Amino acid sequence: MYDRQSFISELEKRNPGEPEFIQAVSEVLESVIDVVNDDPEYLNANILERITEPDRVFMFKVEWENDEGEVCVNKGYRVQFNNSIGPYKGGLRFHPSVTLSTMKFLAFEQIFKNSLTTLPMGGGKGGSDFNAKGKSDTEILRFCRSFMTELQKYIGPETDVPAGDIGVGSREIGYLYGQYKRLRDENSGVLTGKGRNWGGSLIRPEATGYGAIYFADEVVKAQNETLNGKTIAVSGFGNVAWGACIKATELGAKVVAISGPDGYVYDKAGVSTKEKWDYMLELRASNNDVVQPYAERFGAEFFPGKKPWELKVDIACPCAFQNELNRADAEALIKSGVQYVVETSNMGCTTDAVNLFLNKKIPFGPGKAVNAGGVAVSGLEMSQNSLKYSWEAEEVDAKLKRIMKDIHEACVTDGTDAGGYINYVKGANIAGFRKVADSMLDLGY
Ligand code: NDP
Repeated sequence: MYDRQSFISELEKRNPGEPEFIQAVSEVLESVIDVVNDDPEYLNANILERITEPDRVFMFKVEWENDEGEVCVNKGYRVQFNNSIGPYKGGLRFHPSVTLSTMKFLAFEQIFKNSLTTLPMGGGKGGSDFNAKGKSDTEILRFCRSFMTELQKYIGPETDVPAGDIGVGSREIGYLYGQYKRLRDENSGVLTGKGRNWGGSLIRPEATGYGAIYFADEVVKAQNETLNGKTIAVSGFGNVAWGACIKATELGAKVVAISGPDGYVYDKAGVSTKEKWDYMLELRASNNDVVQPYAERFGAEFFPGKKPWELKVDIACPCAFQNELNRADAEALIKSGVQYVVETSNMGCTTDAVNLFLNKKIPFGPGKAVNAGGVAVSGLEMSQNSLKYSWEAEEVDAKLKRIMKDIHEACVTDGTDAGGYINYVKGANIAGFRKVADSMLDLGY
């Protein structure tokens, strides 16, 4: 039998100085420990020790030259956590906050997220502590070349298929894929999030944000409501926030806030026109960490240094960074009557914030379910690459919508308590865990 506290103490001993990883495991453990303790097969197989140890971790040096001719050095990572149900799959993050701990937390989360999509993909993640802020295009090109020169040794279309994440958008995927082709002389689905002209899937750029709102739509419907007329506070102004704003508007909701590290913008009229969405992309492309110009341009209010969780909204939708919504933010949201929380960033809420929402019986969608649309469409990109074919946008979008509905259904099945409250955290963790754990048993050790 497993005991929560002693398992986590052992895990901390084996993985010192990795708080994000421990946080991610603790959250999954909380949901699945009873399932494991009730199943002699899981217990005999030491399933928890095995599922929390990555298959392998690559750490490497990335040397590149800046525009001044100086040689710079960054750390590169690829964590291949679990491939029981398919090739390792998970994005690359370029951000100064990247450490081994963040890579392992993201790869661990990815295992269960990918399992939830119903597609055959294992869990992995990678990246670098490279800071793209203020770098020229040629510096980014040189960095990506150097990063891929090492990474290509460990990945392949049937073994490990990276994609984008924070700091890695279509430009970076292009530079990375270009270098892979140069070194390996092959055209394959080794990366997803590729450009439309060179093997990418339609709807991939929009997929995470669209998927999040499809999931939100299901959550709201489960309470016999609709998104129509609901107000939403979104954080971030990146790829995911952009897609969420578009789909929320389409479904009749109004996004009234977006944010950056400099503060948030309150747009009473809604972030709801093509002009505004295009401007979000422009701001992003400028490599600048500010949303303030949005407020100036569209006559909205800017709140420097503040987070949008102080607003009175129906739905809170964190779309930026891990642990961006803490207990105090959760308290403020609850006080002002928030009805739903749709965590779209990976581990966007701190554990105590999540527990507060659950205790107050507020429907709370966890990141691994809500943002699974991104990797789901990456999986569909892999399918199209294997077929050497591409599907129409409507076809991909319909599959994405179906997958998000199925993920919601899985959460309801495994997460509904005796009183009828849907604990999406528990539901997502149990549904994601079972498929992977059962596959591990089938495959032996
Ligand atoms: P981007 O880099 O495109 O955007 C992130 C945005 O959040 C940027 O605008 C960034 O500003 C902003 N930001 C960073 N820190 C803060 C902060 N403390 N407060 C407010 N805003 C902040 O990343 P994505 O949109 O791709 O990813 C966002 C989240 O979604 C991440 O957690 C990611 O792991 C997750 N995700 C992404 C997927 C994808 O398909 N892209 C798939 C699944 C999950 P700045 O750049 O100035 O720091």
